[in-house]
Amino acid sequence: MAKEELECSFCGRKKPETSLLIAGLDAHICDRCIEQAHGIVIEESKQNDNSDLSAELILRKPQQIKAFLDEYIIGQEFTKKVMSVAVYNHYKRLLQPPSNDNIDIQKSNIIIVGQTGTGKTLMAKTIARMLNVPLAIVDATVLTEAGYVGEDVESILTRLLQAADYSLEKAQKGIVFIDEIDKIARKSDNPSITRDVSGEGVQQALLKLLEGTIVNVPPKGGRKHPDQKFIEVNTENILFIAGGAFDGVERIISKRLNMQAVGYSASMSDDTLDQDNLLQYIIPRDLKDFGLIPEIIGRLPVLTHMNPLDENTLRAILTEPKNAIIKQYVKLFSMDEIEFSITDGALEFIVEKAIEYKLGARGLRSLCEEILTDAMFELPGSDVKKLNVTKAYAQERLTKTTIKKLKAVS
Ligand code: ADP
Repeated sequence: MAKEELECSFCGRKKPETSLLIAGLDAHICDRCIEQAHGIVIEESKQNDNSDLSAELILRKPQQIKAFLDEYIIGQEFTKKVMSVAVYNHYKRLLQPPSNDNIDIQKSNIIIVGQTGTGKTLMAKTIARMLNVPLAIVDATVLTEAGYVGEDVESILTRLLQAADYSLEKAQKGIVFIDEIDKIARKSDNPSITRDVSGEGVQQALLKLLEGTIVNVPPKGGRKHPDQKFIEVNTENILFIAGGAFDGVERIISKRLNMQAVGYSASMSDDTLDQDNLLQYIIPRDLKDFGLIPEIIGRLPVLTHMNPLDENTLRAILTEPKNAIIKQYVKLFSMDEIEFSITDGALEFIVEKAIEYKLGARGLRSLCEEILTDAMFELPGSDVKKLNVTKAYAQERLTKTTIKKLKAVS
């Protein structure tokens, strides 16, 4: 066969019409067909990924879920247990085969109440990481009722689609973490005065999403626009986790508990109550009194709380989780062949400052950065191959002004 007559065995293009023609045993393939075939391979493997997801999900039992959470999250035993069961049931529901016994397993959306920086987002992130499902983290404060300045609630699903690389199937099994849900509490007890477009209006708009419905989602986000193509997203199997600090809810809890104590028995009297952590007694009614509408509370049936972080917990957060902050520094320095260590005294000092300046767990990282910036700047490329951070070293680098600066940022 003359050279000019060679052609692609798949599309029939002659050699001169192609940029590249690769020879096989008895056939040839052109660049375009290779690209097309590559696309098919990617699509196929994506679909296989999705079916793997179902197989993967059923494998983990609640105790295994909890064990995974233990690797990343210190303490918060109660919430880890509650979340493990809720997540397990949620995915069991998702995988249930169709049956005609008329028993529908309801969604187990979750609401976590806890001060900022106690690990609510971390909890959602860790669950998503374990299940290998997409996660969208959204802030409830930017949401407004449709037609007002702000974002429509549908934008939540745009984020989820983006997190799922626009795979609808993956997004529909994903997790949405709605942060600061307490900020959309009803603003006043009298709804007739002004329309509450960022409070109760958003709660109403969220209802359908939480329950499970088909939503037209603008894939690029923003406001709905008549010319824009929509993606239909079914929220039925999406797990929603809401989180909020609910500042002041302790007063509501305390009032209720005191009334109970007076009304029924002395068993819940002040001395048996843990006054430092009243959140542990929270019940759905307290959320209603705070300003969430009963319908929203009903659609977030799993209510749990995060404990405040004490000294021991903060100390453990620095060193124990699988990707603990200190472990990260050890790794960073080791990449420059520098052996990094830190004394107990220095760790205690960091925790002390985090507590003294109310920086919480989030402040631990900023404190470490302040202490180590000089070393991270100077040591790589120098002759120094060891760094041992002592309390004195930390103290020297952490002046009052630097801590004040951290406080202003956090
Ligand atoms: P929240 O969502 O409650 O405001 P985050 O989940 O954002 O808090 O937590 C802030 C940071 O604090 C996280 O990045 C994490 O490193 C750390 N952290 C908080 N609580 C814990 C915990 N219990 N175990 C490990 N790390 C924690």
